[in-house]
Amino acid sequence: MAIDAGADAVMDLSTGGDLDKVRREILKACAVPLGTVPIYQAAIEAISETGALVKMTTEKIFEVIERQAQDGVDFMTLHCGVTQNTLQRLKHQGRVTDIVSRGGVFLTTWMIANNRENPLYEDYDRLLAIAKKYDITLSLGDGLRPGSLADATDRAQIGELVLLGELAQRAWEQDVQAMIEGPGHLPLDQVEYNVLLEKRLCRGAPFYVLGPVVTDIAPGYDHITSAIGGAWAAAAGADFLCYVTPGEHLRLPKVEDVREGVIVTRIAAHAADIVKGVKGAVEWDHKMAQARKDLNWEEQIRLSVNPELARKMREESSPRISDVCTMCGEYCALKLVKKALHPEK
Ligand code: SF4
Repeated sequence: MAIDAGADAVMDLSTGGDLDKVRREILKACAVPLGTVPIYQAAIEAISETGALVKMTTEKIFEVIERQAQDGVDFMTLHCGVTQNTLQRLKHQGRVTDIVSRGGVFLTTWMIANNRENPLYEDYDRLLAIAKKYDITLSLGDGLRPGSLADATDRAQIGELVLLGELAQRAWEQDVQAMIEGPGHLPLDQVEYNVLLEKRLCRGAPFYVLGPVVTDIAPGYDHITSAIGGAWAAAAGADFLCYVTPGEHLRLPKVEDVREGVIVTRIAAHAADIVKGVKGAVEWDHKMAQARKDLNWEEQIRLSVNPELARKMREESSPRISDVCTMCGEYCALKLVKKALHPEK
């Protein structure tokens, strides 16, 4: 459904079932880049093999990363910036929603229980060697992203971002591609400067924003709260938008949620592409405007971001033979103005 709805990439975030089989089946069916979060599988296998997440070994983490890389995964979210140091900063900061990243919490639990440093940070060179060997793009995860407006742009978030910038640079020095994951929950007036901070602190590294969700009060509509933030972020320079579904904060998304989430995220990205001057973006809008002026319904449907929905609405409410729609009916402004301004046509 994600690919059908126009997603440029998909991620396998499975935490149940036969994880190797699921990933390999997705890879077989997937025509776009596939991302994963290997710490999920490492933690789940550790729990099933030893009975406890905290008994996960460093070897298990790297073995899973390599296993997924061998399968042909294209990019991996790795929470290398969750360190003892950044966790101290988080504790001193005092947050409302502490940590909302699943991978970030797995690592935090393990690090506190074992009083150890994050292996993804401590053995970062080992990670880079695997990424280089299998041509994996690192998506440096924001384990400490704000999970509420109250925690937006705090010292914990920015402290992690500084570290991710340093790690991206180390990746590039080894010819490994890296992008930076970003918030999260941000009020509208913090979206643009979060993008500018990331571009500055991470030397222009691609910014992969998870929303951002611009208000916390709209469960059921978080595809919209995130599309508002995504459009703003992308217009300010963010490079890659992670979709959010209407089910966010409430449930695992259903298939229809996936379609809705992808489409509204594509709308957000397109709105930003227009103001960035991306080739072909505004031309799409201009073609739609002409089709509207011409009352060319087939062309309007063809040009729609969701042609199926546009056709359904058109056919439900307007007689097929009518050249206008039910909004203004016989008083159709476009039709009347054509007669008034261009009687010869
Ligand atoms: S009837 Fe009104 S809404 Fe419909 S096409 Fe004409 S002007 Fe547009």
